[in-house]
Amino acid sequence: MLNLVIYGPPGSGKGTHSKLLAKRYNLFHISFGDFLRTEKEKKSSLGILIEPYLNAGKLVPDRIVFNCLRKILDIKTSKQGFIFDGFPRTLEQAKGLTKIMEEKGDSLKLTIDLSVNKTCYLQRIEARSPDNQREDDKIKETVEQRINSYIANSKGIIRYYKRLNKYKRIFAHQTKEITHQQICQRVDSFFK
Ligand code: ADP
Repeated sequence: MLNLVIYGPPGSGKGTHSKLLAKRYNLFHISFGDFLRTEKEKKSSLGILIEPYLNAGKLVPDRIVFNCLRKILDIKTSKQGFIFDGFPRTLEQAKGLTKIMEEKGDSLKLTIDLSVNKTCYLQRIEARSPDNQREDDKIKETVEQRINSYIANSKGIIRYYKRLNKYKRIFAHQTKEITHQQICQRVDSFFK
């Protein structure tokens, strides 16, 4: 199966590009942030548990996250694979994803890292239209916290995927269309 991870800082375009790739390659899009936000809005028992983390922009503990991941991966789908958006966010999650996929007799094929500098991703977060703007984008401290957790974890995650030979970096400062084409070229050449 064509299982992909789309990685990058908040505001790098993970959500946008995941949707485009899901369409193009017929993949099941798993947006971890959306999944958690929906639970929070539903006020389910999981939602109540994770709400303080989401409001503060802090990572939800791995124990909870792995339970969610297992449930999501149990969903029956006729798609060609999964695209993970917002997962992994820690080295432990990256290792856990490898393990859980293996348990399912499957594997992750490629991680696409959307590389954008801090000025650019901060501008993009600010530019999200008011209707589109998420609660956790409105509070400066929450945005800072999400960026800090990205900075703290990204080196380890990138090193891990490089070592597994499953890493491609894409410079994602250009338009959505150009970046999408660049990603597709990488994905296609990886599978040739
Ligand atoms: P962004 O990438 O812009 O920070 P997301 O929508 O992907 O936004 O995530 C929003 C919030 O959901 C995060 O700040 C965090 O609280 C929680 N979250 C999302 N993915 C994970 C994850 N893999 N592990 C732990 N917490 C997560």
